[in-house]
Amino acid sequence: MSAQSRHVALPLKYRPMTFADVVGQDPVVRTLRHAIEAGRVANAYLFVGPRGIGKTTLSRIFAKALNCLSPNGSEPCGECANCQEIAAGRSLDVVELDAASHNKVEDVKPIIESVQFRPASSRYKIFIIDECHMLSNAAWNALLKTLEEPPPHVRFVFATTEGDKVLATIVSRCQRFDLRRIQTHDIVARLRHVCGLEGIDAEEDALLAIARGAEGGMRDALSSLDQLVAFRGDKVTEADALGVFGLVSRSALEGLAGAILRGDVAAILQSIEMFESAGKNMRRLSGELLQHFRNLVVLQALGPSSPSLAATPDQIRVLSEQAKGIDPNRVFRVCDQLVEMEDKLRYVLSARTLIEMSLIRASRIAATATIEELMRAVRDMKSGRKVSAAVPAPAAAPAPAPKTSPEPPAVSVDELSAPAPAPAPKPAAPAPKPADVPKPAPAVAPAPEPPAPPPADASDILNDPKFNDILGSLPGATVVNIR
Ligand SMILES: [Zn+2]
Repeated sequence: MSAQSRHVALPLKYRPMTFADVVGQDPVVRTLRHAIEAGRVANAYLFVGPRGIGKTTLSRIFAKALNCLSPNGSEPCGECANCQEIAAGRSLDVVELDAASHNKVEDVKPIIESVQFRPASSRYKIFIIDECHMLSNAAWNALLKTLEEPPPHVRFVFATTEGDKVLATIVSRCQRFDLRRIQTHDIVARLRHVCGLEGIDAEEDALLAIARGAEGGMRDALSSLDQLVAFRGDKVTEADALGVFGLVSRSALEGLAGAILRGDVAAILQSIEMFESAGKNMRRLSGELLQHFRNLVVLQALGPSSPSLAATPDQIRVLSEQAKGIDPNRVFRVCDQLVEMEDKLRYVLSARTLIEMSLIRASRIAATATIEELMRAVRDMKSGRKVSAAVPAPAAAPAPAPKTSPEPPAVSVDELSAPAPAPAPKPAAPAPKPADVPKPAPAVAPAPEPPAPPPADASDILNDPKFNDILGSLPGATVVNIR
């Protein structure tokens, strides 16, 4: 279908018509359906949530379900006169008021006056009041009496983006539902479905970019798709979508995350320079980077098929690859650093400088062995097992290693287990580089460990310049050249 022959805007055309169509609001939908099926519909409902996630749509579906002449369980039929009138906004028994522009006492007076009359052709008289937090106090007070004791044929549905601004006396007379932002992969799935029906050829990453830009709002996502089709025709690419929102491409974002994980400062600085000169939204970048690392934490803890993972299959593939190479404790500490950056971003004028410094710091964190890794490595070396420096292990507290050797080891595990200062405080003297570490005279300190050369993988740890720094900072630990 060409753009010209599509007269109806996509958000309107694909607005959900039944409860089953509603995406990403399962708990709310389930409760409403149950109330209808059980015949226990409350007098007033309050839907709270950010814009564009379906509050008004849900209100209308609910109104249809209550007044439908031949409902299918809790679902409205969509065909009967009542359903059609409500959908077209001309039902006499379903009155919608936009409180953003009609917030005075005079605006709610017609409601109060009409409440006493029975519905014209339906079971209920339903009042849907949108952006209800905008109603003046006087208007609320005028409504309050009706809300307290509405006639049995009257139902109210309030919708608002700012639940906290609705008076407590009102909230306490409503059943409140908090609608969630819709998950990115749910939006992508819906967009893919719509593209299929409309014959739009869109790249998967273009849909992802649209969903990312919509920040949890289905209406915004469909509007953006509409806009891109109008602009580009029926072929939508990631580059087009990224341009509209000032977003960084998925692969660029994943590349930056990879640079942080590798501790590649040059790549980090080059990426930021590139994003800045391309006019990308740096604050969004920061949020999305945090989301990426959050996904890494979830993936390492729960695996790639966890529903908590807010990612598309392509993203999960890259996340799995990145998760393989790094200890979960390091990822977690990088996340900490990114959360701190998010927090500070609200107060700084130059987002770029803060992001550069924070990401370099995050990359150092990613490249620094944690105490858990060191203890594991030391334990492995002592028991002659293969040392695996970077392979993530379940993030559990390390069990105390059994003391098998009668001879005191150069670095005892007990000393390592003692509450040791984190790697941060460095010893006053400049930390010796591995090469500078004085070799102990073999006669004075015979190495207690097996004399056989350690397996090749151990070099990963031994070559880590931080290794001896950390050992040196532990109280009572003796630094030796383990090689
Ligand atoms: Zn119907």
